[in-house]
Amino acid sequence: MTITPVRHSCTRGPLIAIEGITGVGKTYLTHRALEALDVLDGQALDETVPGARPLLLDGFSQRADGRPGFGEALLGALREASAGDPFLRGGTPLAETWLLLAIKRYDLDTVVAELARGRAVVEGRSVDTTAVCQALLLHPDTPGSALETARALLDFASAYRPLPDLTILITDDAHAAIARTQQRDQRVLTSEQARLMEEACALYERLATTDPARYRVVDRRTVDERQAAELVRAWIHNARTGLDCVREPWQGPEARCMCCGRRADLAPA
Ligand SMILES: [Zn+2]
Repeated sequence: MTITPVRHSCTRGPLIAIEGITGVGKTYLTHRALEALDVLDGQALDETVPGARPLLLDGFSQRADGRPGFGEALLGALREASAGDPFLRGGTPLAETWLLLAIKRYDLDTVVAELARGRAVVEGRSVDTTAVCQALLLHPDTPGSALETARALLDFASAYRPLPDLTILITDDAHAAIARTQQRDQRVLTSEQARLMEEACALYERLATTDPARYRVVDRRTVDERQAAELVRAWIHNARTGLDCVREPWQGPEARCMCCGRRADLAPA
């Protein structure tokens, strides 16, 4: 006989990740979607009301209050070790993976209180970014192995940090994203950097197909900007209901919910 937790919905807010390679328009579409949420939900900017405007973490280790924190210090160490490489490659991909996952744990720690009071949190880049980028560095020329490793890294990450409830992948033709990146950053990517972006683009898409319950995909090759923002808005809106309790994975199924404090009701399966 096995014992499984009984499902019940939690009062917490959802944790939503926005993923995709640089230059696909993640930040732009997320801001447009959040503005549309304000208008359609009539919630304006009252952040004291539970369920009000989602809290946005714009990027890796960027705290909502804008103050530098531990995550930024860790990211600074990676930047320093990679001597200006835009993909933070310092030559020790596994050690860098653990550090990147530590940053993502830190990012979660900074928002648990907001989730607990029912507020949605939108995280620009989550553990999927780390899984995709580091898997490519570990298997530069073998896409099959990179996908397998990306899945394994996600499993590893989920052992000490709950995965997002919903992951929105924004994708596009890689060349279009590369062109936007070059235009925005006023620099030309090397052919090696452009190839890495193409491989990352393909790997994000393949990884998304392995977990259709968690992923929603916006493909900018098939929807225009307005439709893309509307999809993101609707998914964020819909993610607010029917959430299960969330527990520290390392504490096991009997632990209290990180947000509402409730213990799982264990019942025979
Ligand atoms: Zn709960």
